[in-house]
Amino acid sequence: MITYNNTISMSSHLINLKCTACGKKYETHRPINLCECGKVLFAVYNLDEAKETVTKESFCKRTRSIWRIPEIMPVYEERYRFTLGEGCTPLLHLKSMGEILGLEQLFVKDEGLNPTGTFKSRGLCAAVSKAVELGIKEFVIPTAGNAGAALAAYSARAKVKAHIFMPVDTPGIIKKEVLATGGDLRLVDGLISDAAKESRKEAEKSEWFNVSTLKEPYRVEGKKTMGLEIAEMFNWELPDVIIYPTGGGTGIIGMWKAFVELEEIGLIGSERPRMISVQSSGCAPIVKAFEEKKEKASFWEEAETIAPGLKVPVAIGDYLILKVVRESKGTAISVHDEEILTAMHELAKKEGIMLSTEGAATIAAIPKLLNKGEIEKEDKIVAFGTGSGFTTISMW
Ligand SMILES: *Cc1c(COP(=O)(O)O)cnc(C)c1O
Ligand SMILES: [Zn+2]
Repeated sequence: MITYNNTISMSSHLINLKCTACGKKYETHRPINLCECGKVLFAVYNLDEAKETVTKESFCKRTRSIWRIPEIMPVYEERYRFTLGEGCTPLLHLKSMGEILGLEQLFVKDEGLNPTGTFKSRGLCAAVSKAVELGIKEFVIPTAGNAGAALAAYSARAKVKAHIFMPVDTPGIIKKEVLATGGDLRLVDGLISDAAKESRKEAEKSEWFNVSTLKEPYRVEGKKTMGLEIAEMFNWELPDVIIYPTGGGTGIIGMWKAFVELEEIGLIGSERPRMISVQSSGCAPIVKAFEEKKEKASFWEEAETIAPGLKVPVAIGDYLILKVVRESKGTAISVHDEEILTAMHELAKKEGIMLSTEGAATIAAIPKLLNKGEIEKEDKIVAFGTGSGFTTISMW
């Protein structure tokens, strides 16, 4: 029997938070940002309890949003699970593009269909929902753009306030998204790292809750749902390779966490995809650190790329991204902006899929990965189309 309407069985099994570096534990009843040691906190669930209702058979009756498996999502009360229909995006087989590249099983997860045009919907939906459950009324975020648009939309939905600090050169359409949904838009000279400094100054004077990438524990829970969906859509057998355009790295880190939890629940085995991180050659701190065999990345000076989501010179979760890439036997690779544009146009012409520049970077990386022997003809590959072509509309 399916227990869809049974509120007990659909409750969250979140138990506490645990530091990814020092292991210190925290309770979940109040809003929190980082661990005392300055590192990232992860949500911990009672997976033995979750196992009882998260069964393969239960999936046909589950809702289609990031709240599809509320048992391993952080919000306790259903009325705080805000949604705009994010998640459950299509997994599209690229036949023509695959033929051109010599790959039989190339797929794109089209995140452009999310309500705010990018997969940032997922993370901010989860973070805003949880924070509002804990009583937060006002948010602040430094952003390269898309996270700000998502925060503004979900804040409108949850009837709370959002203050968004964004580089002045962010594409106009993204600024308009923020304004349209009622966000307080503050434009900053410089990069996301400069926006972060500005926002900190303002936030210190107020009670605004900071939801910047990985600086609170729940955005990554929203991004985790991409991993949950991939597992479900491939009938609980993960693909060989996942190619992911990396900025702050929440997606790559979140998907890996999803796989660990799904294995413990018993829905998948111990096999994992090779996780491949793609960055633009104009801002590639993770690629550099990977190549130099470092555990952390250093600040990337004078970042410049046509992919706003990848213009992230420093990532607080660098050690987590690098760990996932290495543990999965994946790699990190950079592509030039011209290669991104070529891939973006070709994909649109051959498949009818308009991706943003960030998403197109994953397709641009494929010939290079084939050349280096990092992927093979027979591999089942998922490239993440993280945003809609409309978010980088001036590139067409
Ligand atoms: C933010 C963003 C990225 C990078 O995502 P992370 O999970 O922070 O690495 C990639 N693509 C788009 C469209 C983005 O908005
Ligand atoms: Zn710690």
